[in-house]
Amino acid sequence: MSSPPQVAVIGGGYAGFAAAVTLARGGARVSLFESSRTLGGRARVVDALDYSLDNGQHILLGAYAETLRMLRLVGVKPGVLETRSLALVYPGLCELRAAPLPAPFHLALGLLRAKGLSWADKRAMARLMGRLKRQAYRVEPDRPVAALLAESGQTDTLSRLIWEPLCIAALNTPVSEASAQVFARVLQDSLAASASASDLLIPRVDLSELFPVPASRWLAMRGHQVRTAEPIKAIERHDDGYRLDGDPWSSLYDHVVIATAPYHVAALVEALPAMAPVTACIGALRHEPIVTSWLAFDGPVHFPDPMIGLSGGYGQWAFDRAALGGPEGLVGVVISASGAHQEISKEALEIALVTELQEALGRLPPLKWSKTITEKRATFACTPGVIRPATSTPEAGVWLAGDYVASPYPATLEAAVRSGISAARGILKRCGLKESAFLLN
Ligand SMILES: Cc1cc2nc3c(=O)[nH]c(=O)nc-3n(C[C@H](O)[C@H](O)[C@H](O)COP(=O)(O)OP(=O)(O)OC[C@H]3O[C@@H](n4cnc5c(N)ncnc54)[C@H](O)[C@@H]3O)c2cc1C
Repeated sequence: MSSPPQVAVIGGGYAGFAAAVTLARGGARVSLFESSRTLGGRARVVDALDYSLDNGQHILLGAYAETLRMLRLVGVKPGVLETRSLALVYPGLCELRAAPLPAPFHLALGLLRAKGLSWADKRAMARLMGRLKRQAYRVEPDRPVAALLAESGQTDTLSRLIWEPLCIAALNTPVSEASAQVFARVLQDSLAASASASDLLIPRVDLSELFPVPASRWLAMRGHQVRTAEPIKAIERHDDGYRLDGDPWSSLYDHVVIATAPYHVAALVEALPAMAPVTACIGALRHEPIVTSWLAFDGPVHFPDPMIGLSGGYGQWAFDRAALGGPEGLVGVVISASGAHQEISKEALEIALVTELQEALGRLPPLKWSKTITEKRATFACTPGVIRPATSTPEAGVWLAGDYVASPYPATLEAAVRSGISAARGILKRCGLKESAFLLN
């Protein structure tokens, strides 16, 4: 029997671990290198004072089929995700809850019963969903979401409370610039699919503990290597494979998966001229920020749902961490994409967010601690016609994985996981390992 292919994975985020687990299941020997001491990349735990916070509050959807499959594979218990039927709740303003019925009645009845939306709003929403369905969720030519909303006569209320927040949350790009095609695909796979696809899954554990840490344990138990605090500086091609500058073993690898954020790829492939068009493509991507303010109140805060929408100020979504297994009084407020909040200081932003929470929830206990985390390049800007690189590259043994790699989905955990699986499967296929090998362990 020939020896198993040796594969290096650079990057210990969701894409890197999805690639590593898939490779291991297909019979490859995997060494994963992560530059940070903490696993998870842009979805990781941050220790601050007495709190284990995330670098940014994340939500998953029932439609994240591959992410959920990966979690099951590495032994994560379903209870780590708080599963709630879709509920878009703006206290005192608007409430749209999916009904406990099969699709599409879950949404249809939810829309009929929605509070705070007029009949004109409800008709406009049904019109847009119907139109997208008739077009098989294709928007040609691709254009900004704002144009799609205007063409289909969406009301101001609907745009402000439903479409814009959903678009920004999913694509992390303002509606005036976001791709209507990618947004339509998100709606197809979530709102227009089975009722459970639109479920909101909110992690009850930190984001490192949700997948990267259990995946790392799963790999180690099967004899694969996971190295943290091990930055790789460059990939070098040799006659018989690749070596990594920074690999303490100086091993030779048959294949390398680059599973870093897009802006870390160029430095790694400088010595590989065939990669020049790929780095040019990646270099053309623009990025959008996400800000999460963690606000710890000195006492309980009463939310109607673990996640509520905020409107009219800086905050977009607020999360009750106490309802999600976290400490009493801890609230996370998320602001996706660029906007006016970038023009004020963190302190001023936190004060404004407390006021906005107070307007939505009523009187709050005193604020005892706060921390605002800005991820400046949280995701690439998902604009019409944006060109994303493929997972296979002109350098035959070098593969890309990450949320920015070509996909019908925006930059999400699911896109990251899918890209990792796709890179791994490409390698296994190239090595003559059969798809059935995926089922071995
Ligand atoms: C604040 C915030 C909120 C978000 N909210 C959501 C959400 O609600 N739902 C959702 O689905 N998605 C959300 N996302 C997007 C999601 O987090 C990303 O799409 C996903 O984590 C990207 O994973 P990745 O593996 O592609 O890249 P990354 O997570 O960036 O992983 C790359 C890894 O490579 C490592 N690395 C880089 N260079 C090297 C090197 N030279 N050597 C070794 N290692 C290296 C990095 O340290 C990092 O760990 C959010 C993102 C942010 C930032």
